[in-house]
Amino acid sequence: MKGLGVLCWGGLAGLALGACAAQDRPFGFPTANRALLESGGGPRFFVGTAGKPWTSGMYGYVRSEGLQFHEGIDIRYLERDSKGEPKDPIRAVADGVVVYVNAKPSLSNYGCYLILAHRVEGIEIYSLYAHLREVRPGLRPGAAVRAGETVGVMGRTANTRSVISKERAHLHLELCLRLTDQYAAWHRQRDPGQRNDHGDWNGQSLIGIDPAAVYRAQAAQGAGFSLLRLIQAQTEVCRVLVRGRDLGWARRYPQLVAANPAATREGVAGYELVLNPHGLPYRVIPRSAGELRGRGVMSVVSVVEAEASRPGWRKLVVRRGGVWQVSAAGERFFDLLRFKSP
Ligand SMILES: [Zn+2]
Repeated sequence: MKGLGVLCWGGLAGLALGACAAQDRPFGFPTANRALLESGGGPRFFVGTAGKPWTSGMYGYVRSEGLQFHEGIDIRYLERDSKGEPKDPIRAVADGVVVYVNAKPSLSNYGCYLILAHRVEGIEIYSLYAHLREVRPGLRPGAAVRAGETVGVMGRTANTRSVISKERAHLHLELCLRLTDQYAAWHRQRDPGQRNDHGDWNGQSLIGIDPAAVYRAQAAQGAGFSLLRLIQAQTEVCRVLVRGRDLGWARRYPQLVAANPAATREGVAGYELVLNPHGLPYRVIPRSAGELRGRGVMSVVSVVEAEASRPGWRKLVVRRGGVWQVSAAGERFFDLLRFKSP
């Protein structure tokens, strides 16, 4: 418990330190803006897209009438310099290691951005900080950072045609799991000739969970908070079976793999993926060859109709002629998950 005093420096009593630390663990806020946890604080915490309410800065299907997905949260600036530019220091949300820096805003709609890798409860999780003015000079992949350490400065960078106005200045924060560590090889094979400016750290290799849900759960549950439990409590939309003995996702996230005596006995021939509305395979069930009989390389096991009838979810499966099938987007997604570089 030695580090707590450092995190909450300035606290007066041990009691205050404890309360503060519980809220900041395992994830601290990336800026001084903590209005998310205040009642009615939403408008002071989130920034909406141009001309839209603040709720469009939340995570999820919050854009284009609920059809467009926002993979992170947009956190409003608190500080400006004499030119009106945001200058909030950006802090690492947890102890971690730098894995990627994009210092060229023209290469991404995220502008200048940074990705850190963390291990929380043994789970490999990534934080991504986008639209930065700059990443802290000298901070390069491989560098270790401590929770709360300054890693950059808030900015308004992006390569999109519409610029982020000073009034809408924000940090785009993501908390992600990693779908594949072989994105670059998959891209070369699947989309030959098409540019991939970010190698294995292309945005498609990561899948975001809701950071606001994490902060709220931490605040509500204190020391009882569990990232694993939060991931396991996602809403099921559908299940898809993919063939293959070796699934990188199952190896990387053994915490999400369920026990199946048949597969243990006869050997694993494929995996049943339980997906949330954004396609996060938050539960994985190994399946034996016998259990896969008659199934293709990827096939739909089941769909929760009540969830699938909502407008906003990732259509990795579609109904054709009354039968649920893997969609074109789903084929790419599951192919990426199954991919192993030769
Ligand atoms: Zn955003």
